[in-house]
Amino acid sequence: MHEDVARVLISEDALRDRVAALAGEIEQAYEQSVTGITVVAILTGAVVFLSDLMRHLPYRMEVGYITVSSYTGPAVTSGGAKLGVISLPELRNRDVLIVDDILDSGGTLRVVQSVLRDRGPASLRTAVLLRKPGKAPAEVAVDFVGFDVEDVFVVGYGLDFDGYYRNLPYIAELKSERYGRSSDDA
Ligand code: 5GP
Ligand code: MG
Repeated sequence: MHEDVARVLISEDALRDRVAALAGEIEQAYEQSVTGITVVAILTGAVVFLSDLMRHLPYRMEVGYITVSSYTGPAVTSGGAKLGVISLPELRNRDVLIVDDILDSGGTLRVVQSVLRDRGPASLRTAVLLRKPGKAPAEVAVDFVGFDVEDVFVVGYGLDFDGYYRNLPYIAELKSERYGRSSDDA
């Protein structure tokens, strides 16, 4: 275990099994898709989840991405989200699947879902690896959830603190002293 980690919440094995099962759920939902799906990942947090998930999906697919910055500090999230780089193929009349790392307050997905809906997809669904239950408003709907997690700040498997720890192969909580540092990085 990494020296900055207080405890592992979701092990590498559990992630592998659940992502494979989630891909099965997604595959069923798109059985009728004629065009194939377009996956839109929200970077950077979704990269590890995306790369594991997409290799389980046998469809003809395209992949695009969006970056989102929040207005808050390194380990704090709130409703404020601002779109950054948008690199997307044509979404009109496509079956679009948003892939994100975690649903917390819902601010990020609210913005992304609204922007993508405006591009006229045939369908729009959302998959998140993690969800902190009860925090997002009902109108920010997600269709596929890997794990519900307790309301602590987690890192690993793509999720960062202050830009670091994305490469940890498990989901973990950091030791509290790691949060003491200040930084401008969001
Ligand atoms: P929301 O906009 O739903 O509040 O938060 C979603 C975004 O905030 C996620 O895409 C993620 O980047 C970040 N976030 C929320 N909770 C956590 C957490 O526990 N750990 C990390 N590393 N990022 C989080
Ligand atoms: Mg983030």
